Amino acid sequence: MKPPPFTYHAPRDLDEALDLLAEVDGKVLAGGQSLIPLLNMRLAAPAHVVDVNRLPGLSGIEAGPEGVTVGALARQAEVARAGVHPLLGQALRLVAHPVIRNRGTVVGSLVHADPAAELPAVLAVLGGSVRLARRAPGGTGVRQVAADAFFAGPLESAAEPGELAVSAFFPALPPRSGSAFEEVARRHGDYALAGVCAVVTLDEDLHVAAARVACVGVGPVPVVADVSEVCGRRPAATVPWEAVTEAVRRAVEPEDDIHASAAYRLHLVGVLAERALREAAARAAAPP
Ligand SMILES: Cc1cc2nc3c(=O)[nH]c(=O)nc-3n(C[C@H](O)[C@H](O)[C@H](O)COP(=O)(O)OP(=O)(O)OC[C@H]3O[C@@H](n4cnc5c(N)ncnc54)[C@H](O)[C@@H]3O)c2cc1C
Repeated sequence: MKPPPFTYHAPRDLDEALDLLAEVDGKVLAGGQSLIPLLNMRLAAPAHVVDVNRLPGLSGIEAGPEGVTVGALARQAEVARAGVHPLLGQALRLVAHPVIRNRGTVVGSLVHADPAAELPAVLAVLGGSVRLARRAPGGTGVRQVAADAFFAGPLESAAEPGELAVSAFFPALPPRSGSAFEEVARRHGDYALAGVCAVVTLDEDLHVAAARVACVGVGPVPVVADVSEVCGRRPAATVPWEAVTEAVRRAVEPEDDIHASAAYRLHLVGVLAERALREAAARAAAPP
């Protein structure tokens, strides 16, 4: 199918883009890997499309000791190649196919807020944030929204009409930490039936000091569970894994759909949580 008619805009700089977004009832076009299918299937029918691909200064991938800032136009493939954050790399391998990652942006995936998408879970488990810009009286208004407030529901983020997400910040892993992303999809590159990413931090005795997971496909937004206490301060090998997987299952509320039953997703999320946490703990214990 073809998209319904819309007026296409291609602003040349951020000011022009923010002026346009303030004036028209429009959708931002970044990589187009989610928006174009939605238009073609007529699930969205914006009167205006604001293509931000020509805006300068939004393609940066800046890594520092605190974490990584990813600009709105940094493509998923570029971020994966940059190798700037282990969990981003582990997640991006599971996102769609190479041609989609060549166009699709990391920030676009966050704003799109698909509950089965990997990158929102990464932002959520790390406690990252998204920077949003809009036209404000006398200039540009900017706000930084933390991950736990950014994902509002299925395909619903805190980015309001008139706002452009300019970057996302992914905090670095603490010392002696490891991460992992495990999921089950019917075919490689499909959206996952369920997935879990994990971050484990060990203390000096290599006992678990902190353990967090974020689950995808089992709730309207990424579901974060802190399982540090259930793991207890002990070596990963002696963690009570049954209690941990039970705690993760209690945190999620999967639903039936045409791809899988809620019961199957609930089963998967426990299995994947144990797998991801064990893998993350092993990486945390490995010498750098
Ligand atoms: C066949 C296929 C398989 C896929 N599989 C997966 C998968 O397994 N996992 C996964 O996570 N994703 C998957 N995707 C989606 C893909 O990762 C998209 O690239 C991503 O969801 C959106 O990024 P984009 O840059 O293409 O955004 P677009 O499609 O351009 O935009 C998506 C939405 O976000 C808004 N938006 C985008 N950027 C901004 C911004 N800077 N400011 C404000 N609003 C913005 C748009 O207005 C739109 O509403 C798949 C896509 C396809 C076509």
